[in-house]
Amino acid sequence: MSDARKVVKKQELPLLPLRGLTVFPYMILHFDVGRVKSIKALEEAMINNQLIFLVTQRDAKNDSPNADDIYKIGTISKVKQLLKLPGDTIRVLVEGISRAEISEFTQTEPFFMAEVVEKIYVDDEESKVEVEALKRRVISTFEEYSKFNNKISPETVLSVMSIDDADQLSDIITSNLSLKVEQKQEILNEFQPKVRLEKLLEIIVKEIDIMQIEKDINIKVRKQMDKMQKEYYLREQLKAIQNELGDKEGITGEVEEYKRKLKEGNFCEEIEKKVLKELDRLLKMPSGSAEGSVIRTYLDWIFDLPWNKKTDEIIDLERAETILDEDHYGLEKVKERIIEYLAIRKLKNDLKGPILCLVGPPGVGKTSIAKSIAKALNRNYVRMSLGGVRDEAEIRGHRRTYVGAMPGRIIAALKQADSKNPLILLDEIDKMSNDFRGDPASAMLEVLDGEQNFAFRDHYMELPFDLSDVLFLTTANSLDTIPRPLLDRMEVISLTSYTEEEKVNISTRYLFPKQIEAHGLKKESVKVDEQAVRDIINCYTREAGVRNLERQIATVCRKVAKKLVSSKQHSIKITSANLEKFLGTKKYRYDKANEKDDVGIATGLAWTPVGGDTLSIEVNLMEGSGKLELTGQLGDVMKESARAAMSFIRSKAQEYMIEKDFYSKYDIHIHVPEGAIPKDGPSAGITLATAMVSALTGIPVKRNVAMTGEITLRGRVLPIGGLKEKVLAAHRAGIDTIIIPFENKKDLEDIPEVVRKKIKFVIAEGMDTVLNTALAKTKLKSIKNTQGDEKVAVTKSHSQIHEVSQPIIEQ
Ligand code: ADP
Repeated sequence: MSDARKVVKKQELPLLPLRGLTVFPYMILHFDVGRVKSIKALEEAMINNQLIFLVTQRDAKNDSPNADDIYKIGTISKVKQLLKLPGDTIRVLVEGISRAEISEFTQTEPFFMAEVVEKIYVDDEESKVEVEALKRRVISTFEEYSKFNNKISPETVLSVMSIDDADQLSDIITSNLSLKVEQKQEILNEFQPKVRLEKLLEIIVKEIDIMQIEKDINIKVRKQMDKMQKEYYLREQLKAIQNELGDKEGITGEVEEYKRKLKEGNFCEEIEKKVLKELDRLLKMPSGSAEGSVIRTYLDWIFDLPWNKKTDEIIDLERAETILDEDHYGLEKVKERIIEYLAIRKLKNDLKGPILCLVGPPGVGKTSIAKSIAKALNRNYVRMSLGGVRDEAEIRGHRRTYVGAMPGRIIAALKQADSKNPLILLDEIDKMSNDFRGDPASAMLEVLDGEQNFAFRDHYMELPFDLSDVLFLTTANSLDTIPRPLLDRMEVISLTSYTEEEKVNISTRYLFPKQIEAHGLKKESVKVDEQAVRDIINCYTREAGVRNLERQIATVCRKVAKKLVSSKQHSIKITSANLEKFLGTKKYRYDKANEKDDVGIATGLAWTPVGGDTLSIEVNLMEGSGKLELTGQLGDVMKESARAAMSFIRSKAQEYMIEKDFYSKYDIHIHVPEGAIPKDGPSAGITLATAMVSALTGIPVKRNVAMTGEITLRGRVLPIGGLKEKVLAAHRAGIDTIIIPFENKKDLEDIPEVVRKKIKFVIAEGMDTVLNTALAKTKLKSIKNTQGDEKVAVTKSHSQIHEVSQPIIEQ
């Protein structure tokens, strides 16, 4: 201050306190005035020379400030215009003239009047250079400032640059800065331009620093925001493009739909996560891309699976019994076992434990029993055929990385079932095999294992599915090919072949009514007599079950329907005589027993998957060198049986009055007719031996006798399987005496009583009994009843106890 001379000017002016606003000299601005006191001050100014002293009040909120609430330094301004606004407000346009300091308030009411002092500084030569330097510095700093603050236009910067006067420069720059009222006031307080410039410079530099930091922060924040926003924008863009391409709903619509389903579905967290991830991937796919459709298929699988859906299970034994009876004839034992199984389920109230396995030939009702169980328990039913499954992936699915990957059959079955507690029938579990692609049986083990299957993982789904509510049932034709570990988990229920009587009953009570209805016929329009039914059974089908029978019955119904429509008849009677008109010529003829007793021909019994059958064994002797020839597609085991029989006979030749050296003098040819059908198994042993003895001794075999049993080298008779089927076949063929091994005596219980009554069973422990029974008469002296064979066949039912045929040894 010492380097500048000071001129002082005093005057008395009306004073107007400003709120939140600082007016600088050289500044033109307008503001609105509403306070009565201020309006009065304005009026006073207008009466005199239009000059008014504008000074900022310390607290903008203060409505009626007194002298102490007002800063000391303000700006003498000239009122250039007044505009009355609606209400009592006045808009004033003022121009700042010069700064001044209040020396004294001369009046406070009705408006402020104050004596103000202007101080004008004139710089001396020396400080002029310094001021010049300051000026330049301030201008360049202001320029830099303007780059951060876009409220300052380039024109303002330009006009500022052209100002020469330091006093004017500092005030104009200050009025353009965005500063707080206090900061502005600080600059206004300074009368001396040089000092004011210094202060200003300091403030601007500080502001620039702050703004620089602000900018840095902004950049950082924006970077983070950008990442999120970029994706958002891109998605929005994609949406727009899809809309533009006419794909109105587009992928986004689809994704929304999936999300809605996800929300409604009430899925567990793992599924939800997985779906969201896939949806995210889907969004990024161009519409119509192959990969997109792979994701869609996957998502559809997820949504189609019954994760939480269940049917209400009913375990009511009476109801189950009624349903099983309604749908199936006979099968008493099977039904009983199933009811017992259900009873245990009810008591234990969980599904852990053995899996039921229904074993039996085709068409005996395994599948339909399973269906009835599902119906009885009110569970949805799905059948899953395992026949020919050799690849683990068929059970567990392919990983999604494979082209055309799909879930395995378990998941497919669940989708079909549409509930998580269905009954799944694993049909033909014995037909599953394994090869280099893995072992489906081990996958099956996991599925069936109650300890593991609560989180079954399909390779395709990649999500665990809880199978613990599923009731699994299996079926098989035979137990031999079921892998041991699987078999160990099963409770086997056997279904055996039906007898003719059973088939007749099933046909008339179930199959005919079912097919008549299925073909749109009325009950009274088809009449079938019993013999016709028997003929259909015997001459058009050859099976253990009733599957073909049902097909033949369907054919009959179809033909009847056609006839009824074309001939206008009301009903048609089907008899044995007109059956061929419906079904064509008869297809089968069961081997009947031989017409007469014959030498070298014995009747054996065979078990096949389609039921039992008789087996005629022929033996011829020719002069030769002791060769044993076997023909008729015999398997290895059967060939070995023949050799065993041969050895036995050689050892007993003398006893049986057979030439001692027969084996070197004759060739023996054994043939089993119907060469197209492969035959194997040891159970023809005693039949082979009987036919050979007959051929070697020339004694005929009785035509009404059939036999089954394995032979040992010592002539013991060993037990065989499938007795029921074999006996039924023999009965059908007109045989009335059957020789069975001692150890099969217990199986006689399974044979239907009707058949049991008509057949004489001879129970043999050794070959002597067999020969005694089978050979028609004997010249043999030495066949004795010495091996403790039973003379009487004892079975539980009394009706069929028969005497063993009279001893045939002539003593
Ligand atoms: P499987 O599964 O043992 O091969 P299915 O269950 O398919 O046999 O049976 C074939 C047909 O025979 C079905 O229509 C079934 O209803 C019928 N059927 C089988 N056994 C009986 C029975 N005991 N009573 C009534 N119908 C039967």
